[in-house]
Amino acid sequence: MIRASITAGVRPTTMILGEDNRKAWSHLDVLAMQAFQIIEDERCGQCGLPRWLCKNDDPRLQVRIKVDSCYAKQELDKFEEERKKGDSGGLAYPEFYTKPDNIPLHEFRALYYEQLAAERAEDEGD
Ligand SMILES: [Zn+2]
Repeated sequence: MIRASITAGVRPTTMILGEDNRKAWSHLDVLAMQAFQIIEDERCGQCGLPRWLCKNDDPRLQVRIKVDSCYAKQELDKFEEERKKGDSGGLAYPEFYTKPDNIPLHEFRALYYEQLAAERAEDEGD
C-alpha cells in the first residue's frame, strides 16, 4: 500500500484509509512512511530479502533455491531467440489461450490457488 501511494503520488493514509489527499500529511502518514523506509532499509541490496536472513551466518540457517516459472516469459524468450535469427520489428507480447480452446481462463485461477494452498500445506508438514 505504501509503495502504491508513492507510485500514485498520494499520502499513505489516502491509499490506506481513503483520506483526502489535498490535506497536509498527518503524523500517521509520516509514521507509515518511516515504517516503510525501515523495512526497505532492512532489505539486502543484492537479493531483496531481509538482511537478517541473507547476511546471517548462523549454520542452522540454510538456503535453498526455488524456481518460480512464468510460462508467458518462457514463451516470449523462446520467440525472441527465434526472431534474432530472422525478421525484426513489432512488439512481442504473451497472450494466454487454452487447449482445447473453450476453457474459460478464469477457471485456471481457482485451480492455481487450490494447488498453491495444497503445496503450502505440504511444505508446512515438512
Ligand atoms: Zn541478499
